[in-house]
Amino acid sequence: MESASESTMTLTGGCLCGKVRYEVTGQARRFYLCYCQRCRKVTGSAHASNLFARGDLNWLAGAEEVSSYELPEAQHFANSFCRGCGSRVPRVIPAFKAIMIPAGSLDQEPPLAPEARIFEESRARWCESVHSVAGHAGYPPA
Ligand SMILES: [Zn+2]
Ligand SMILES: [Zn+2]
Repeated sequence: MESASESTMTLTGGCLCGKVRYEVTGQARRFYLCYCQRCRKVTGSAHASNLFARGDLNWLAGAEEVSSYELPEAQHFANSFCRGCGSRVPRVIPAFKAIMIPAGSLDQEPPLAPEARIFEESRARWCESVHSVAGHAGYPPA
């Protein structure tokens, strides 16, 4: 029997302002939370949530709004984003024959659970205790 990660599926998502919409058809293969310094900078957060798929990336709307930045000193590090709102959007990584989907941009739950935290050596110390602090359904009580 085929596992969920091997079956072909269509994932959809978009940016915060809604101008950019995309569809990825293929197989979700890997899901990593990356704590490297580059991912911290580019997300402004503790880690990137990178879902890697094999297949096709199609822009359903706003392809002309998608801009990309390639870090000059890096072999593969780049960031694609909506020029209107700055949200990360998927990008094709030709060297890996993969599409990197920022999991938070998906309309639906990713088909895989995160399988590993990577570049933990670079992890910001402030996020080490994140699961032991208070949690609230919305804003903290006033
Ligand atoms: Zn946008
Ligand atoms: Zn990273």
